[in-house]
Amino acid sequence: MPSKKSTRLIHGARPEKRKKSLVNPPVARGSTILFDDPKNVYAKTVGKTYGRLGHETHELLEEALKELEGGDFCYLTPNGLSACSLAMLASAKAGDHVLITDSAYGPTRRFAEETLPRYGITSEFFEPADDNIEALFRENTSLIYLETPGSLTLEIQDIKAIAEAAKAQGVTVIVDNTWAASIALNPITLGADIVVQALTKYVMGHSDGFGGAVITKGVSHKQKVYELGRNMGLALAPEEAYSALRGLRTLSTRYAESGASALKLAKWMQKCEEVKSVWHPALNSHPQHDLWKRDFEGSGGLFSVIMQPEFEPKVGDFLSALKFFGLGFSYGGFESLCIHCDPQLERHFTPDLGGPLIRFYCGLEDADDLIADVEQALDAVI
Ligand SMILES: *Cc1c(COP(=O)(O)O)cnc(C)c1O
Repeated sequence: MPSKKSTRLIHGARPEKRKKSLVNPPVARGSTILFDDPKNVYAKTVGKTYGRLGHETHELLEEALKELEGGDFCYLTPNGLSACSLAMLASAKAGDHVLITDSAYGPTRRFAEETLPRYGITSEFFEPADDNIEALFRENTSLIYLETPGSLTLEIQDIKAIAEAAKAQGVTVIVDNTWAASIALNPITLGADIVVQALTKYVMGHSDGFGGAVITKGVSHKQKVYELGRNMGLALAPEEAYSALRGLRTLSTRYAESGASALKLAKWMQKCEEVKSVWHPALNSHPQHDLWKRDFEGSGGLFSVIMQPEFEPKVGDFLSALKFFGLGFSYGGFESLCIHCDPQLERHFTPDLGGPLIRFYCGLEDADDLIADVEQALDAVI
């Protein structure tokens, strides 16, 4: 395998190269798999006997993702949220205590808060930048759930230190790696046990589908994730598996382009007087910038900006004045997006922002056009 991710993404996980074969595997649709011999119907050695968990496209996608993350098993799910909930539920049982970063993606938090307790699992949220999470470990703590950088507020967590402490107590470390898209960060190589990712975002890359993946390291995590996923019937649809595999081929180029534009816009916004602060881990001003530099290889298209408090009544008009930034949730697609985040920020440890929080996602438009767009929208409201 070549050492660079971009080359591996192009040449890895491909159907066997044959003369006159297609470059991409076809979308394989099918529930029933026909047998050649009645003796084989219940044989353990014949491989797949039913299509629920997918065919060749799925297998190639799993292979690519586990290779990219340094894991040894990948389970595909219908969307990102089901990857998060599957990983959590597979790693805890009744009577357990689980720790979750307060900056985790909203619906993941909701699952931990509303659903886990119904199965006898206690969830506790921690301050995302807490550097002594060990102190929160209890006798019955079974998992710690990280998301770095955190959704909306982009706090960076020290996966290495947390994984070391967790290992000593047999605590499973799960990391939501959607922001880094397996490109800028590989948590398993830093000691995490399980990585989850919303393929919906960068991997699919065109805002036109849903998918999720749980990538694990080690036999026991594989066993638990596989068993629960299979027993719950979680599976990715064939068309979505195809879109995700196709998206992977261009992922590193798209990620780099979107990341470069975001950094350029973030730096430009640092100089705007309407802006109080810019939260982007690749900027020196980010509180955990050193940690980002140590662990990450690059940054993506998503960052947040705190506007001056006087800007609060103008947020709606500003968002409406933008021409290239669509108003909507999600990120990782080809087009830029922007959203006002304050209504989403109801947390256990709500950060003191001192101004409205706006999240930007830079897509694949030219960076200067994006900057000009933000400039004209600011001019229009001030
Ligand atoms: C979007 C997102 C998810 C959920 O993905 P869906 O495919 O929308 O269910 C999970 N985690 C993070 C960090 C996300 O941004």
